[in-house]
Amino acid sequence: MMDEFTLIEQIKQKTYRQQSLIKGVGDDAAVFRLYNKDTVIAVDTFVEGVHFTRETLTPKQIGYRVLAVNMSDIAAMGATPLYYLVSIVIPGSWDNESVKQIFSGMDELAERYALDLIGGDTVSGHELVIAVTIIGSVAGGKARYRHHAKPGDVVFVTGTVGDARAGLDVLLRQTKLPENATESIIYPLITRHQRPEPRVEFAQQLKHIDRVALNDISDGLANELHEIAESSHVMIDIEDAAVPISEGLQRWDIAQQFDYKFFGGEDFELVGTVSRDNFSTVQAVGVQLGVKVSEIGKVSYNRERNERVLLFRHGTWQPLLKRGYVHRSRET
Ligand code: ADP
Ligand code: MG
Repeated sequence: MMDEFTLIEQIKQKTYRQQSLIKGVGDDAAVFRLYNKDTVIAVDTFVEGVHFTRETLTPKQIGYRVLAVNMSDIAAMGATPLYYLVSIVIPGSWDNESVKQIFSGMDELAERYALDLIGGDTVSGHELVIAVTIIGSVAGGKARYRHHAKPGDVVFVTGTVGDARAGLDVLLRQTKLPENATESIIYPLITRHQRPEPRVEFAQQLKHIDRVALNDISDGLANELHEIAESSHVMIDIEDAAVPISEGLQRWDIAQQFDYKFFGGEDFELVGTVSRDNFSTVQAVGVQLGVKVSEIGKVSYNRERNERVLLFRHGTWQPLLKRGYVHRSRET
């Protein structure tokens, strides 16, 4: 491994994009100054072999993806991402060029959204670990919380769900490809895994709505719906047929589609709730930005009911379980 100082010199931005930055890389800590804003901050850690592998992602895609995942958390708070810090553990088996590629993947996305890399830490160790800390801001009192859902709200989701996991399974050969699977069907799914698009602008454009509950879909739609329902102390009723899936995903059999769309996760779409009155504004934002918005259900409340999230499917209501993705057999 090249020495830490040479690496830092090479990954350091030549110029900074954010006005509020006072000191970036190069001192004991970074400094920025924000006025009248709520600061939003999150961290995510990625371990090679656990959260990503070089089998499915190039070093550049690894960088792109880890930053996208963090930006998605900031988006789900309705905030604007501004800065990030990267703590990286580099094993001897990683060559310098690949490490620099990770940073270039992050910078590609950062440049698009005017984020600055303002610090981090670089150490050697036995496996590649990347921890990204991301900092964003939102007008005071305007952050979007998952505890803001109310009975009567419309439940909506952006884009389509299930693609990223299907794409990952295709890359890992853990799913049987549909008979008529062409490149043009498979490629968009793989792209959803390798280059997820954080819904930053969409969430920002909802700023004129007083109350929106928001969550990003990292662990699967079912899980995120449960999180909203639990923290808001409400129930949610979802219509299976209304949950949007891509043309590609529709090639898989119904059981597999079901698993991908509710339990797949990692699409980094947004799921949220707003009052019926404000739903047209959400739809208008979708049209303006070219982001598909689908109404998938309603928020309700019933003190007699045990199940937090119910799903209308095959003509009956059934509980939508809060569980992660379970691989189906290759035979299905
Ligand atoms: P210190 O000894 O004060 O912790 P370091 O030598 O670790 O400083 O880092 C020097 C500068 O480089 C600091 O500004 C630090 O934030 C930055 N830096 C170190 N590693 C990274 C990294 N992986 N990404 C971005 N900035 C980094
Ligand atoms: Mg240090």
